[in-house]
Amino acid sequence: MAAMKTIVIGAGISGMLVARELCLAGLDVEIIERGEVGRESSWAGGGIISPLNPWRYPDEVNVLARASQSMYPALAAALAEHSGIDPELLDSGMLVFADEAEIATALAWGARFGQTVTRVDAAGLAAIEPATTALKPAAIWMPEVRQVRNPRLLQALAADLRARGVVFRTGAAVDGFVEHDGVIQGVWAAGQRIAAERVVVAGGAWTSALLAQTSAAVAIEPVRGQMLLYRAEPGLLRRMVMVQSRYVIPRRDGHILVGSTLEKVGFDKVTTDEAAADLRASAEQLVPALKHAPVVKHWAGLRPGTEQGIPYIGAHPTIEGLYVNAGHYRNGVVLGPASARLLADQILGRTPVVAPEPYAVGSTAAIDIIDH
Ligand SMILES: Cc1cc2nc3c(=O)[nH]c(=O)nc-3n(C[C@H](O)[C@H](O)[C@H](O)COP(=O)(O)OP(=O)(O)OC[C@H]3O[C@@H](n4cnc5c(N)ncnc54)[C@H](O)[C@@H]3O)c2cc1C
Repeated sequence: MAAMKTIVIGAGISGMLVARELCLAGLDVEIIERGEVGRESSWAGGGIISPLNPWRYPDEVNVLARASQSMYPALAAALAEHSGIDPELLDSGMLVFADEAEIATALAWGARFGQTVTRVDAAGLAAIEPATTALKPAAIWMPEVRQVRNPRLLQALAADLRARGVVFRTGAAVDGFVEHDGVIQGVWAAGQRIAAERVVVAGGAWTSALLAQTSAAVAIEPVRGQMLLYRAEPGLLRRMVMVQSRYVIPRRDGHILVGSTLEKVGFDKVTTDEAAADLRASAEQLVPALKHAPVVKHWAGLRPGTEQGIPYIGAHPTIEGLYVNAGHYRNGVVLGPASARLLADQILGRTPVVAPEPYAVGSTAAIDIIDH
């Protein structure tokens, strides 16, 4: 009998990277996507290959981020070579304006996680990024922080997967699982029963709804983020620059992204005039020359929000053959490669790239019980 396939639900970065890991290990993989390939949160994001202010995150996020950061150069090069689409992994570095207390925390974090973090004063800023103005007397400079151009990364991934034989079934929403005696048998999608010996749920912000029909306790909720895109001359801005939760990202062709809002408004992806005005003000404060540049796009995406940003990666607690890779909140691009590797390691019985326990599905349920 021919080997049965693995179904991955969701063609965002989380689903496609797992599909790639499994496919490289010789598995037969089909991705089922409700909408279009790579058009939700993964498309909407900024592509910064680092958590923002990583020292504010728990170690579980930083450990995955560090593992992913070391994988990105080889991944981007392989995708560019196989697909002909360059994901534009750039060594932009990141400047973060901060107060002295935050700078001290950042320096200690850098030493602990082996990442270069230096303090820059107003005079030193001009050498690193002349397009920005001193918003605070000092800043943090993180030269190793990279960025990737999300839409191109997703296109490259999809092309790479197709060339490797992964099947994409788009416009088909999975609305249920087929299970027998605690073992997964497949899924229901668009009124059809599709058989599989393994199913991976990578449904981004929609994951909780899908898993609600099972015993898994995952707490993932949509958190809207709006972004603006400016068209500017290449070289106007060379570094990513951030103050508080606002940042600018220079793309290679001169476009500059400004992000982002954090809004709990359910599954509503509309953009608002207020957010546009607010993002504009932040961008022009960070880079005054943007006052003269046109805004060419405004969009919103729904992050798969979890309380501390720790994703769920691992086996379903009660259904054999069902797995989850979701809940990466603000960091799905930076955490993507290591998360996918970690899940594939568990599925394939390999030594895990990082310790899997903190990401176990159902683990938050135990923590969430508050006695009174
Ligand atoms: C404005 C913004 C800025 C961001 N900036 C960054 C950044 O700079 N760096 C970073 O690392 N991260 C960033 N993020 C976060 C990052 O984009 C997300 O964490 C990541 O994209 C999540 O990927 P995903 O594949 O899990 O989800 P998604 O990309 O949302 O993909 C999930 C897919 O599953 C599909 N799906 C859902 N339910 C079903 C179903 N029942 N049947 C079939 N298909 C289904 C959806 O249609 C979707 O295509 C940002 C996010 C936003 C919104």
